[in-house]
Amino acid sequence: MDYFSTRGATERVSSAEAILKGLASDGGLFVPASFPQMTLPEIEALRDLSYEERAVHILRLYLTDYTEEELKGCVSRAYGHTFDDVRRAPVRAVGDLEVLELWHGPTSAFKDMALQLLPQLMSTARAKTGEQDTILILVATSGDTGKAALDGFADAEGIRIMVFYPDGGVSPVQRLQMVTQEGANVSVVAVRGNFDDAQRGVKEIFGDTAMAKELAALHTKLSSANSICCLLADGKIEAGDPVNFTVPTGNFGNILAGYYAKRMGLPVGKLVCASNANNVLTDFLQTGIYDRQRDFYQTMSPSMDILVSSNLERLLYHLAEDTRQVAAWMQELTTVGKYNASSLLPALRENFWAAFADDRATEEEIRAVYERTEYTLDTHTAVAYRAAEDYRRETGDARPMVVLSTASPYKFGASVLHALGEDTAQMDEFAQMECLHARSKMEIPVRLAALRTAVVLHEGVCEKDGMHAAVLSFAEA
Ligand SMILES: *Cc1c(COP(=O)(O)O)cnc(C)c1O
Repeated sequence: MDYFSTRGATERVSSAEAILKGLASDGGLFVPASFPQMTLPEIEALRDLSYEERAVHILRLYLTDYTEEELKGCVSRAYGHTFDDVRRAPVRAVGDLEVLELWHGPTSAFKDMALQLLPQLMSTARAKTGEQDTILILVATSGDTGKAALDGFADAEGIRIMVFYPDGGVSPVQRLQMVTQEGANVSVVAVRGNFDDAQRGVKEIFGDTAMAKELAALHTKLSSANSICCLLADGKIEAGDPVNFTVPTGNFGNILAGYYAKRMGLPVGKLVCASNANNVLTDFLQTGIYDRQRDFYQTMSPSMDILVSSNLERLLYHLAEDTRQVAAWMQELTTVGKYNASSLLPALRENFWAAFADDRATEEEIRAVYERTEYTLDTHTAVAYRAAEDYRRETGDARPMVVLSTASPYKFGASVLHALGEDTAQMDEFAQMECLHARSKMEIPVRLAALRTAVVLHEGVCEKDGMHAAVLSFAEA
């Protein structure tokens, strides 16, 4: 299986090379040259396997230059001992919907599904390709990717990692998780700006050829780990009956994995894209017009506070199959702030449905679901749960619906408690955890409780235009 850029750069690369590079040389994203097909009996056979066995099954269809032994090793190191549920991603009935809990990994957010595995694949790729230079991973995070990447890459051989997060734009627990990260190869910096500023800064650094030369002199190559599309879409598959999925969406990685699964043969009905008040994707999926020129809101679901949703570019490519067109749209997005892809509207409507919930609706949803079912949703999952209910009500489609749950409520304790009617004014993060434990009866994730005594190691802050300098000084250190 070869990979190439959504924007048409001519080089075709192997999966190991694509994993090492992260971004294509023309600024595009790597996509697979085709979708491997699985038959229904093959898909059904996955049901009897462990999560790790399923993962190897699916990964070997995409990562054809890795041996089965290599993949088995990567997968068992990634998921074997770091998750607190043997099923890794358990499905639980909550009301009329199925909730797929993707947050049982070490950082309590769904990013662990991909970012525990990626470092393993990258170290293996380094060995396979004979790479000698240090790989420097740059990450812009809206909160969860940063910690998940730091945890996955800490002390990885031949790899260093630098994370930029929006100053004041992440939850207190998310911030604490990042600034206390240990490891000789890590750096964490707050950027005075929002997530889009940080993401743009990282993309600019990738496109900067002068910078690449300076880094080459330091025997360093850049790579990325931004909302890497996790191919391990794992659902409750009925025998051939389509299932709908609702995904709380920011950078479009998770929902894109659902689309890939559909293209591979999984009986997926509609993919419902759930957004918060930053509803640029809701508008796009309804009109085909992507317009990032709008107010940016800081919401109680900060991991979805995004106006430039980067993996959407991959969907554009798969629907249009025209790299020149994709490059033109991306160019317009940069220069004008807007593009019109309404030619794709029929295909978008066939596969997707979209809705959003602002903070008030999100709070209402947390409380209503708690009162009805005693299950405590995190803020992101609540946005999705609401969108799933909207979808059922407005379309009458009663097929099974899986709501992807992307974070433990403990990561956003203050907002969740507020929704449940608690006054948190006098509580620090840890008192909030105790209070949430009393209300939700859910175990406090051990790693979050341990933040109480963790030492803050990263207090750096930079301006939006200071990211270049920060990367260079880290590379030199
Ligand atoms: C990253 C994240 C999302 C959004 O996922 P994308 O793949 O970026 O669309 C939603 N919820 C949580 C908790 C996240 O960390």
